[in-house]
Amino acid sequence: MVAKGDMVYAWAADADVLKKGECGGAITALQQYALKSGMVDAVLAVKKGQDIYDAVPTLVTNPADLAETAGSLHCGTLLLSKVVKDYLDSNKTARLGVTVKGCDTMGLIELAKRNAVDLDRLLLLGVNCGGSVSPVLARKMIRDKFEVDPDLVHKEEIDKGQFIIEYEGGHAGIKIDELEDEGYGRRSNCRRCLYKVPRQADLACGNWGVIGERAGKATFVEVCSEKGANLLDAAVAAGAVKTDAANPKGIEIRGKVEGAMLNLGNKWRKKNFEALASDLWGTIGRETGRCIKCYSCIENCPVCFPVAEEFKGNSRMVTSGEVPPNPMFHLRRFAHISDSCINCGQCEELCPMDIPLALFSHAIRTEGDSAFESKLGKAPYAN
Ligand SMILES: Cc1cc2nc3c(=O)[nH]c(=O)nc-3n(C[C@H](O)[C@H](O)[C@H](O)COP(=O)(O)OP(=O)(O)OC[C@H]3O[C@@H](n4cnc5c(N)ncnc54)[C@H](O)[C@@H]3O)c2cc1C
Repeated sequence: MVAKGDMVYAWAADADVLKKGECGGAITALQQYALKSGMVDAVLAVKKGQDIYDAVPTLVTNPADLAETAGSLHCGTLLLSKVVKDYLDSNKTARLGVTVKGCDTMGLIELAKRNAVDLDRLLLLGVNCGGSVSPVLARKMIRDKFEVDPDLVHKEEIDKGQFIIEYEGGHAGIKIDELEDEGYGRRSNCRRCLYKVPRQADLACGNWGVIGERAGKATFVEVCSEKGANLLDAAVAAGAVKTDAANPKGIEIRGKVEGAMLNLGNKWRKKNFEALASDLWGTIGRETGRCIKCYSCIENCPVCFPVAEEFKGNSRMVTSGEVPPNPMFHLRRFAHISDSCINCGQCEELCPMDIPLALFSHAIRTEGDSAFESKLGKAPYAN
């Protein structure tokens, strides 16, 4: 029996899932069990589309189909929280299992605060996340830095501080630090992220801390809720998942890696925010001058939704036909999300004009947090 706070190594009992899984397939096996046993009515996961740069959110109701969703897609920059909202809205009593990164988890919590999703209907299987790489930049990075045709790459992973590719004819790895110093590597919002282990999910799963003979073949699972403990216990009892005690040295290593990643996140915040500090509003004014008013930043923001319509069309926020919009459009949007921006990066990732919107809203949110923190103590969770 496990309880909230316990840490174990876990892997799939089924040989096919064990092989297809990123680190032993425990997540896929747990989702299969949750679906088969009726704990959930469907599972939302991510599977490879055309190639490794194409991560496709996938709703699964047949447990056998889940094997196709096994594996980690580090170029999968998508955010699942609004997809979850749409599913729950159109399936009024259904319960959903979802694989979530830290940003997906925070997006869902923001929606729950606005009564837009019911967390009781969700089973959240969290994946630790050191960050994802924009698919467009990943292709360029593989061509320029690895000198490999990106279409020949069939597997990528981030391990021990390196971005590693496997391709027809070989494999190669380059240090993430080196890539990022040259403008490649993880998305800039991911570099600044301080939420690497999603402890607000029901289970937090990752590869950090799996050492010894299980390294690469099992997932480190931290039990984060009673719901997560019940799922793991039931899946083990049913023979779907196997577990072993986490190695104490592995637990220590995992803690150290998480600490190092948080230090790195703070380093990036300092670097990015200090570069902006001398002229934040001027920079926002100049950069948003490229805006074509496509509203992608609004559509894809997990926080922006309750008043989204007020920002569009010929509304009190914008004038129809005016491009770029009055700078107040962006300033009002930043003000609207300033206490809730989760730094998921969707506004920036999906902006066709490459305006660094996530940088601006994250800088504003962080500035606001620090003003409150100095009066009230540390915010309940950092992002
Ligand atoms: C983008 C990303 C970054 C990661 N970074 C780290 C890290 O720095 N440190 C660490 O300890 N662990 C990290 N992980 C977790 C690790 O790679 C494994 O996913 C975890 O150990 C579970 O392994 P498994 O074999 O049990 O999972 P599997 O059974 O293979 O299941 C993996 C699950 O992840 C889902 N998935 C794949 N790609 C995405 C995506 N882009 N967004 C959302 N869901 C996705 C799949 O649909 C599937 O449900 C990361 C995972 C991802 C997706």
